[in-house]
Amino acid sequence: MTFWFILSFAFITILFFITRYLLNWLATSYKFQLFGKMINCVDTNEKALALTYDDGPHPPYTDNLLDVLGDFDVKATFFTVGENVENNLATARRMIAEGHELGNHSYSHKELVSTNLGTVRAEIQKTDDILSNLGVRSDIHFRAPFGLKRIRLPWELARRKKINVLWSIDPKDYQSLSAEEIASCVIRNVKPGSIVLMHDGGGDRSQTVAATKIVVEQLQHQGYQFKTVTELMALQA
Ligand SMILES: [Zn+2]
Repeated sequence: MTFWFILSFAFITILFFITRYLLNWLATSYKFQLFGKMINCVDTNEKALALTYDDGPHPPYTDNLLDVLGDFDVKATFFTVGENVENNLATARRMIAEGHELGNHSYSHKELVSTNLGTVRAEIQKTDDILSNLGVRSDIHFRAPFGLKRIRLPWELARRKKINVLWSIDPKDYQSLSAEEIASCVIRNVKPGSIVLMHDGGGDRSQTVAATKIVVEQLQHQGYQFKTVTELMALQA
């Protein structure tokens, strides 16, 4: 009796940890998504990369960033949070007018792993509507808040034929690093087809703005071209 009890207990415990590991892997893997298309870089031989900025618009940092990008004639992709767009319409309009790509990073930046399907749908739809009303006509790609997805979010994105765009370089600009530290991480790790994650929202982003200037100057010097995510995907070998 005791033997069988211990065996069953051990079996259930092992099953619990395997399930937990698999669910965690499913949520955080940048290589696998249960439904629909996800990318974290583009397979190409061309010296090109995409700079992406999350969580804005967030003046004055987003506007400072637009100044830097404009000085170098570089187009970037902004994964915007719907409620921040509503609160900063002038900056959002400026992003569009200056030729940057706008993506959907949910309406309120909730994690969309444990939320119900109705919430997942509303978080995607509201931001799509806001961006469409601002005049965004191209496909609006999605980036999962915190990069997390499991079952419901990929299911809903697949239903809408939306691509979940993650990243291959994360210089962790949200960890109070200096501009030089952020920039050197990007420059050290860049390769053709890289997608770089940075943030214009969520805090004081002056170091990200300064890092962007260093990255653009040095990588343009190395012969790299800066593309929007959609342009980069068109280079897929
Ligand atoms: Zn985010």
